Amino acid sequence: MTTAPHQQDEVTCSFCLRSESELGKLVQGPGVYICEECIKACSQLVAGSDLATSGRAPWQRALSDEELLTQLPRLAVVGTQAERALTELVRKGRAQGITWTRIGASLGMTRQSAWERFSGEQ
Ligand SMILES: [Zn+2]
Repeated sequence: MTTAPHQQDEVTCSFCLRSESELGKLVQGPGVYICEECIKACSQLVAGSDLATSGRAPWQRALSDEELLTQLPRLAVVGTQAERALTELVRKGRAQGITWTRIGASLGMTRQSAWERFSGEQ
């Protein structure tokens, strides 16, 4: 996936798609990040209660055209974050001695495809 250079190191909440610079600290999971506001919304949803303010989670609100266009590159950043985490996990598996054949089979691809996508070699 290709993104503009300024987006490559930007961290984005995987739920509301706002950047760390807008939100402050984000909690990191494998390939995902979440902000405090989205954590609160998730906690309310898991508890089965209605969302306190708008009745919608931050990622469920209606978007104007401009907001939608702003979110497109941000969602691309989320994809980049997930791809980076996937590559890191594959390389960790390789360091543990897991073969390219098994990694490929796990991902539903050939050994060669897995190597080409994740090895960093050409
Ligand atoms: Zn968020």
